[in-house]
Amino acid sequence: IAFVRIAVVTGGNKGIGLEVCRQLASNGITVVLTARNEKRGTEAVEKLTRLGFSDVIFHQLDITDASSIAGLAEFLKSRFGRLDILVNNAAFGGAEPVGNPSFSPELSGMDPAQRIEWMLQNSRETYDTAVKCLQTNYYGAKHVTEALLSLLQSSSDGRVVNVSSSYGLLRLFGSEELKQELNNVENLTEERLDEVLTKFLKDYEAGALESQGWPTTLSAYKVAKAAMNAYSRIMARRHPELRVNCSHPGYVKTDFSLNSGLLSPEEGAANVTKVALLPAGGPTGSYFTSGEEALF
Ligand code: NDP
Repeated sequence: IAFVRIAVVTGGNKGIGLEVCRQLASNGITVVLTARNEKRGTEAVEKLTRLGFSDVIFHQLDITDASSIAGLAEFLKSRFGRLDILVNNAAFGGAEPVGNPSFSPELSGMDPAQRIEWMLQNSRETYDTAVKCLQTNYYGAKHVTEALLSLLQSSSDGRVVNVSSSYGLLRLFGSEELKQELNNVENLTEERLDEVLTKFLKDYEAGALESQGWPTTLSAYKVAKAAMNAYSRIMARRHPELRVNCSHPGYVKTDFSLNSGLLSPEEGAANVTKVALLPAGGPTGSYFTSGEEALF
């Protein structure tokens, strides 16, 4: 029997995640499409099955729910005994839309900065959305990675692709001290990252984001992605047997961007799939934008 790789994609029911599932499957990989909602997930699998992909399997996964994560790990262990590719894609946008905004054709002349401004005007960030954002985008992805680590180590070429964002780049931070700390991956630890995130929430509550050098718009989203980037680099250093990389998909037309993005989900997903399928022995602990290596 030919060797078939096994991949897990989180948040696989729509947007970039669904497209990553399709693209991995079209490369002959068996894909476990996960979604927190059973109905949305099985419908997404049916969509891919109708397109002719028979090796896409559904499994429920809410990345903020420890028992759901354990259930997925158990399933993978008994069904495959290993995992070759983990794509941490699921995320929360970090703000709630105000009303029911949708990017309309008459806005399409806007440049990217104007589109993002439009998004900001149509969404609201609060302390509660900030907490949810860190819990989902950073801690959720981290807990999934931890739970699946031994399965990835059972692969001969285990890979983790963290779907990150240019919004997690350190240049968006005003505080030099914070930038240096998050960039100093030789000394950075997960415990220290926890402290940094706890301080962020404290500063958020105290209305001190700007004075403390944090990003001030979509702040929790940016901080969570910066933490995800730092965690990737810690994992890459600690686990040279794995390839652990971050990929910015680009500005993509999905529900996440209120459909204001410039790239199609296919194009955005291709930037992620490319990193998942890099030749063996390639980079680890790296950040990719548009599928090319770049600085964090
Ligand atoms: P979508 O809103 O289309 O999809 C987000 C996915 O995440 C959905 O499947 C959603 O599930 C899932 N999700 C959210 N919370 C959880 C949870 N707790 N457990 C499991 N799944 C969850 O967004 P995109 O496809 O645009 O985004 C995918 C990734 O790309 C994200 O990591 C995002 O940060 C990143 N990204 C996107 C950009 C863009 O322009 N779109 C730009 C840069 C980065 P459900 O349907 O149940 O809500």
